[in-house]
Amino acid sequence: EDKEEELVVNYVSKDINNMTVNMPYQCFINGQFIDADDGKTFDTVNPADGSVITSVSSASLADVDKAVAAAKEAFENGEWGKMNARERGRLLYRLADLMEEHQEELATIESIDSGAVYTLALKTHIGMSVQTFRYFAGWCDKIQGATIPINQARPNHNLTFTKKEPIGVCAIIIPWNYPLMMLAWKSAACLAAGNTLVLKPAQVTPLTSLKFAELSAKAGFPKGVINILPGSGGLVGQHLSEHPDVRKVGFTGSTPTGKQIMKSAAANLKKVSLELGGKSPLIIFNDCELDRAVKMGMGAVYFNKGENCIAAGRLFVEESIHDEFVKKVVEEIKKMKIGDPLDRSTDHGPQNHKAHLEKLLHYCETGVKEGATLVYGGRQVGRPGFFMEPTVFTDVEDHMYIAKEESFGPVMVISKFKDGDVDGVLQRANATEYGLASGVFTKDINKALYISEKLEAGTVFINTYNKTDVAAPFGGFKLSGFGKDLGEEALHEYLRTKAVTVEY
Ligand code: NAD
Repeated sequence: EDKEEELVVNYVSKDINNMTVNMPYQCFINGQFIDADDGKTFDTVNPADGSVITSVSSASLADVDKAVAAAKEAFENGEWGKMNARERGRLLYRLADLMEEHQEELATIESIDSGAVYTLALKTHIGMSVQTFRYFAGWCDKIQGATIPINQARPNHNLTFTKKEPIGVCAIIIPWNYPLMMLAWKSAACLAAGNTLVLKPAQVTPLTSLKFAELSAKAGFPKGVINILPGSGGLVGQHLSEHPDVRKVGFTGSTPTGKQIMKSAAANLKKVSLELGGKSPLIIFNDCELDRAVKMGMGAVYFNKGENCIAAGRLFVEESIHDEFVKKVVEEIKKMKIGDPLDRSTDHGPQNHKAHLEKLLHYCETGVKEGATLVYGGRQVGRPGFFMEPTVFTDVEDHMYIAKEESFGPVMVISKFKDGDVDGVLQRANATEYGLASGVFTKDINKALYISEKLEAGTVFINTYNKTDVAAPFGGFKLSGFGKDLGEEALHEYLRTKAVTVEY
């Protein structure tokens, strides 16, 4: 009776670079791939050439209810809830192994669906996802409370201890820039803590989430523990955020959507964690190792074609090295190869989708109109794909739109600061509503640590950038949200604490 039904997976298959990639395209609910309840679908597009990869089931409200009910049943009555924590850890390890076995296939799917260059997709998008599952697999049997002294008279007749419990059904809503990695950051912590989940990928990048669903079933996750619903944010995301049986929402995306989710979640006071937008400052002092600052500064802006939440949204360069810094950056940009993301020698792929490219081109026009100097780029290249040149602006003043708003694309926004004016540049770096990441390049350790103390950001990089690790907590301050992904702290986003007191 309890036997799992056999997994039936319908695929769209494509031969790409001597490999057959099989892509599931239906909703994954209660251990089965099924069409949306109302039969609706949407197309997902390859940003390298604008072609449709496949149509994908578009989950309806009824599908959300079905998936939440399956997750609730799996949590309350299924084998998942009774499973030994160590067994749960083994399932997570097995899933990580399967993801690694399929890493080339996953990286190829990620590349054609999101425009990430294949080499980066393999190393970062998929590689870090595998690491994340392994990291949290190790936590499963190390989740523990404390004993707490109360009424400290001797002899003590009281014992108080805390227990860490899973919360229940969690909704996970993610963006399109690192589709599988965002899934992994949240799902691995959520599952390690013993919860069940319903995840909604971004509508423009649903494919690796659905491949992940298939691998999770093959790894042996009981039905209902993991449910994946491709579909619209306003419909599926909204309904998940409001749903009375969902106890927690883990969200990564834009600040306006984060605010909306918090409002929806207020209905039953769900626990919420929000990883939102940023406009991260990067301060480059004249006593830095200049070539390293150029290389890392470019990575800070152009990594994953700028579709990187911690991207340095604004560079402050000390006046005496400003011109040389800009000159070197432009020289390096000219060496970058823009083109087919599947080609192993490509450095810079297409922007994720057409509307995003258009938004970026408009962002650059605004910069020019407001009087910033466009030193390089700012244009679309290589039609019919959604490619954009890496772009550099200088003479950017604090009041300008491009100084304040996130581009989420390959646009370097440079401002000068007077030599030696540490507190002045700090004040400008902090004059933003966001607080996700930040960086500083200097050989002066005292200056670097002073600045790291003053910067209002959840992450500070010193003489490096983008150095995110599964063991280190990741998350923002201010309008960049609250709650952490990764590290031990992420586990606690998916746990609740119970205090038990005995008098004996
Ligand atoms: P978005 O907010 O438009 O969408 C994110 C997700 O929310 C998508 O799955 C979308 O369908 C869903 N959604 C939309 N409306 C919703 C609603 N009303 N209720 C529930 N869900 C809804 O963001 P995006 O454009 O996909 O991603 C870009 C943004 O994400 C940028 O601002 C970027 O900085 C941010 N981001 C932040 C981090 C981080 O860790 N802080 C990481 C990656 C991206």
